[in-house]
Amino acid sequence: MDARENVSGAERKIWSLIKDCSGKLEGVTETPVLEVLLIVSRVLGIRKEDLFLKDLVVSPTEEKRILKLVEKRASGYPLHYILGEKEFMGLSLLVEEGVFVPRPETEELVELALELIRKYGIKAVADIGTGSGAIGVSVAKFSDVVVFATDVSSKAVEVARKNAERHGVSDRFFVRKGEFLEPFKEKFASIEMILSNPPYVKSSAHLPKDVLFEPAEALFGGEDGLDFYREFFGRYNTSGKIVLMEIGEDQVEELKKIVSDAVFLKDSAGKYRFLFLNRRSS
Ligand code: SAM
Ligand code: GLN
Repeated sequence: MDARENVSGAERKIWSLIKDCSGKLEGVTETPVLEVLLIVSRVLGIRKEDLFLKDLVVSPTEEKRILKLVEKRASGYPLHYILGEKEFMGLSLLVEEGVFVPRPETEELVELALELIRKYGIKAVADIGTGSGAIGVSVAKFSDVVVFATDVSSKAVEVARKNAERHGVSDRFFVRKGEFLEPFKEKFASIEMILSNPPYVKSSAHLPKDVLFEPAEALFGGEDGLDFYREFFGRYNTSGKIVLMEIGEDQVEELKKIVSDAVFLKDSAGKYRFLFLNRRSS
């Protein structure tokens, strides 16, 4: 018996609240009802699916909290910062303000990486700009590699570490604060594959409102969006290694000038999304 079934007094039927709240998110997101359901289940501390089970009611305190969060979302604040988590590769990852929210395209990078890990029996991988740990933590979770992850943001390092613990891979996921692979100089020779979803947005780009709440250093890659790639390939000798990086869909021609032997792969939406470089000798 759920105590909520019998809450009496000024409580409000949940469905009328959900309807009103969804109205506030029209035009802000393409999925207003879903987002409200997620916010409501978060506040009530129940699974979204369980909202349908009973004719639940909401206490005045809960209603106030829900309305406050919906207003926040209506102002463009990202849904996943409100929820405090984002699902990636079937894993619930903690996210918070100051940390990039993982995107579905990046799951395809992880799938590709896992195929390569199996194919070549790779044991040591780097994840540059790990953010929430999305790439590194999931690669560690779904294979037996050791991951050396870096990020320039202290908040990202903190959150990535928590996510590694959350998914039981902290013995194989090492994260340090710093640029590129500088924090793991002593491991560089042993790293067989370098993964990254770097910032690649042009500084002049007009981004949707919610994206602008995410950290600038996670998004912008300078005037043409390519600063990260230029600097990385200028600094590191990648011979003997595999490199797999996410890119912007319109960056292939410019990237060919930076890495002439790179191969470019499309995502499932048919857009060029990954730079692949196999410099292994065997
Ligand atoms: N890998 C995560 C993901 O896919 O969800 C985060 C990707 S986010 C687009 C880019 C990340 O790179 C941010 O967390 C940012 O702080 C970090 N970053 C930017 N420049 C960096 C650099 N030179 N070295 C290390 N990290 C960097
Ligand atoms: N795809 C991201 C966006 O929504 C950009 C990701 C990146 O710069 N790595 O803008």
